[in-house]
Amino acid sequence: MNRSRRKFLLRYGIAGPGLLAAREPFRQLYGKEVSPMEQTPHRTKLFLCGDVMTGRGIDQILPQPSDPQLYEPYVRNAKIYVKLAERLNGPISQPADFSYVWGDALAELERAGPDVRVINLETAITASDEYWPDKGINYRMHPANTPCLTAARIDCCVLANNHVLDWGYQGLADTLDTLKQASLKTAGAGRNSREAEAPAVLNLAGKGRVLVFGFGCDSSGIPPEWGATDDKPGVNWLPDLSLGNVQRLADRIRRIKQERDIVVASIHWGGNWGYAIPDEQRRFAHALIDEAGVDVIHGHSSHHPKAVEVYRDKLILYGCGDFINDYEGIEGYESFRGDLALMYFPTVNPADGTLSDLEMVPLHMRQFRLNRPSADDFRWIRDRLDRETDKFGGAVETLDERRLVLRWR
Ligand SMILES: [Zn+2]
Repeated sequence: MNRSRRKFLLRYGIAGPGLLAAREPFRQLYGKEVSPMEQTPHRTKLFLCGDVMTGRGIDQILPQPSDPQLYEPYVRNAKIYVKLAERLNGPISQPADFSYVWGDALAELERAGPDVRVINLETAITASDEYWPDKGINYRMHPANTPCLTAARIDCCVLANNHVLDWGYQGLADTLDTLKQASLKTAGAGRNSREAEAPAVLNLAGKGRVLVFGFGCDSSGIPPEWGATDDKPGVNWLPDLSLGNVQRLADRIRRIKQERDIVVASIHWGGNWGYAIPDEQRRFAHALIDEAGVDVIHGHSSHHPKAVEVYRDKLILYGCGDFINDYEGIEGYESFRGDLALMYFPTVNPADGTLSDLEMVPLHMRQFRLNRPSADDFRWIRDRLDRETDKFGGAVETLDERRLVLRWR
């Protein structure tokens, strides 16, 4: 056993002779050595998660549901998604209060005490009836249900995704206005390209800032015409993952980043299912870290968590998976366990943006509420993440009965 491993385990209170002996085969993988002097309060803890879709069926159980009319090829009423979930897992009492969907995530947020809370908001917030035609799926949450976001004290909604314009330009304008009124910052969409490109600036008392840049890729299903231009609203569209684009982003980030700023690149990319990480994503993520001053890559779009990589001591989450949605009663792809959600709590050193540690909390979406998973489900998500993360030299292990922890070389 070397010193850094012992310190790592001691820090997490899991050093015991039996445990250490059992873990010995993994001793080549260690978290960074952290001396007590280096620990908080000079570190910044983030809460990150994947897709938060509080529209459609979720919106229907909240106190102020939208008109349930849908324009999908098969389903014409949003209440059907509630019925499908109820058929599977039992009745959902309605109206649910605004904090209901977060369930046990609220206690975990309280316990972890992150400095900032960032989500990918995968729905428009609007009462507009002008849906984007021919898209097939159009998500909206009624503006009067916005307290379901503030109930979890979310600081920043990333909007560069394939649903923010589901209810057209009016829907986007309503989303931006509603979030602003609720004092939530946004990134990745705006009234023009200047707004869409601008980061959300999250000021932390005495700890510097977190800058969140939102980007959306065509591979996640964002229609190309949704890209914002000088005089057209839309999302911060990334036409490709070329290194030329990295240079363009590097110039922009350099103009804004100050000392002790932590830069998060929040990217909606890739398809919904599958664990493969395309080479171009990995190259792009590395280049953002090498050349553009990015400290954390917050990837999303996949319906399930994907591999985690630590590259030059910076965190890359390739896909955070679904977090909140109404997919509970929809059949297909069960083997990926999209119903298992993950809270990510990375702690980052603002002096250089390096990762100090990453804790993850698995939860289970059931009756449109995030619940603590069964012991079997906890082990399943741990083993699946460990399998995928091993490809990049990391390991995911049990920290305690509720939490997982990442170790890396
Ligand atoms: Zn998406």
